[in-house]
Amino acid sequence: MVPMVRIPPTRKSVTFLVSEPAANTAMTTGSKRVNLLDLDEAGLRAFFESIGEKPFRAEQILKWIFHHGVTDIGAMTDIGVSLRQKLMRIAEIRLPEIIREQRSIDGTVKWLIGFHGGNAIETVYIPEPKRGTLCVSSQVGCALNCSFCSTGMQGFARNLTASEIIGQVLLAAQALGHERNGRRRITNIVMMGMGEPLLNFDAVMPAMSLMRNDLGFGFAAKRVTLSTAGLVPAIYRLRETIDVALAVSLHSPIDELRTELVPLNRKYPIAVLMQACRDYVSAKHKRSVTFEYTLIDGVNDHPEHARKLVKLLRTVPSKLNLIPFNPFPGTSYRCSSASRIAEFKEIVMRGNLIATVRKTRGDDIDAACGQLVGIVQDRTRRSERIKIKLAETSP
Ligand code: SAH
Repeated sequence: MVPMVRIPPTRKSVTFLVSEPAANTAMTTGSKRVNLLDLDEAGLRAFFESIGEKPFRAEQILKWIFHHGVTDIGAMTDIGVSLRQKLMRIAEIRLPEIIREQRSIDGTVKWLIGFHGGNAIETVYIPEPKRGTLCVSSQVGCALNCSFCSTGMQGFARNLTASEIIGQVLLAAQALGHERNGRRRITNIVMMGMGEPLLNFDAVMPAMSLMRNDLGFGFAAKRVTLSTAGLVPAIYRLRETIDVALAVSLHSPIDELRTELVPLNRKYPIAVLMQACRDYVSAKHKRSVTFEYTLIDGVNDHPEHARKLVKLLRTVPSKLNLIPFNPFPGTSYRCSSASRIAEFKEIVMRGNLIATVRKTRGDDIDAACGQLVGIVQDRTRRSERIKIKLAETSP
């Protein structure tokens, strides 16, 4: 692994190149060994059984990785030498690598994290007085093509593996000096980075399970949030699979406009999406859904939109997160004015919605929502991909 170099916060934002992608060996060598970081507790138990070992070995491995920060199988001293040797032949614990770290003047940190094949994604840490949120990516690029998101403009290369997703948290925890039982620099994780997490269900679930599990990071359900553009069948699957908070990117209370902003709306229109949200919160302990609404000047920020939003969201236990649009090169959209945002918020609050305006963070390092781009190497034709993906997720 490339050693992490800590950079003290300065008044200017700084960019630090930790390693050149070309010099990064793990990114150019594929490996045939099982990466144990791709498996959650259930997966690890099954793995040990499949190699004729006791399932409780899973607990030992997880504690070494997540409680003691040890990824060298050879150093796992409570596992017998012969089993360690056997494991080292067939398995490994392989993290992705930090290519670049950027620190904003406001404390936000953005990492470019690279994988074999030359692809890279971005992970962002947002410190606030009482919490620290880590924004994690689920795909290299994104296939959904939302018109106001720069990740979509990069095209789509591939899904991340579970190890590449949980690896982002491990690398950030290490870089930030996060302590499980001490200084908990990371208090919340949001799957709001690059990609649509519900289009990568099979890798996102074990990764989130490791975020939740006490043998892993041990975050409470309300502190791990999955954000989706509204993949309805997968919202139902999510409900059956894991207990996490749900955020839904809404952006318009009107189908025609929402389809323009989030083309996935054509397949799962607002009424169907709202029903899925109601069903999600009514199950078990989920108290509310967070709706994200990016305010774009002259597009979805009219007072009439706010009034329609009030009517719509009254039907779902929810919170509303208003996000000022973050511009990026090549977009013709602009951010709504401060007075427009204030007026919008005023209307929805008068309508008894719980609304917050998200402060834009990490502006100087392009770390805000929709600004994450990474390196999307093997991008394929987006429209083709989306057709395939959506066909796969049809109920
Ligand atoms: N695919 C998932 C998660 C990634 S996007 C989803 O759609 O929810 C995380 C949030 O940032 C989403 O609400 C997204 O709509 C919003 N976003 C994307 N581009 C943005 C931009 N340029 N400005 C502000 N918010 C943006």
